[in-house]
Amino acid sequence: MTPKQQAYETLARTMIKNFEKRNIEAFYCSTKEDAVKLALDIMKDGGTVGMGGSATVRETGLVDAIKETPSLHFIDRDVAKTPEEKKSIYLQTMASDYFLMSSNAVTIDGELVNIDGNANRLACLLHGPEHVLVLAGMNKVVDDVDSGIQRIGTHAAPPNAARLGTRTPCAVIGHCSDCHSPDCMCCQIVITRHSRHKGRIKVILIGEELGF
Ligand code: SF4
Repeated sequence: MTPKQQAYETLARTMIKNFEKRNIEAFYCSTKEDAVKLALDIMKDGGTVGMGGSATVRETGLVDAIKETPSLHFIDRDVAKTPEEKKSIYLQTMASDYFLMSSNAVTIDGELVNIDGNANRLACLLHGPEHVLVLAGMNKVVDDVDSGIQRIGTHAAPPNAARLGTRTPCAVIGHCSDCHSPDCMCCQIVITRHSRHKGRIKVILIGEELGF
């Protein structure tokens, strides 16, 4: 184990305890392959699986693994061809058994910090799907909520803007300028500090750099 991996593991142990006091169950996997195995084990009873747009989740290979698991049905929003189909898939996602996402930042104290433009991803985090599974590389860990918001403006939003082709200032100058542009990806900034329903939100911290 490298010193960096050892440090990630130590920090994750601290964070798991901090999540616990917030009614959020957290786990640590040193590799994305282990994270996929754990996620499939969590979903072993089967059901429908929805997802917000997440580079992290795709990078782990979990989506492909779900598609190969007969007891799981992946609600694939990429197949929507019309606005009606898109709406129908969104409604199915809202009622899914498992919702997969990452988090734009995760604080050491166990808070999730997220932005959203249309808010469909955050709506599912807040309410709807029976279970929410958050996969986050340790590169998303920050000291506190303020650092999380700062991380998003500097490290998460600019590459996301490039990925999505948004015409936002962060796409042009490479950092946040607190915009009100029509494409703004930060219409909502949500801090998840507690889960009322024990175990509804599960966080898998992964000892690799994943997503933005
Ligand atoms: S507020 Fe605007 S400029 Fe700042 S990160 Fe969000 S989309 Fe980019």
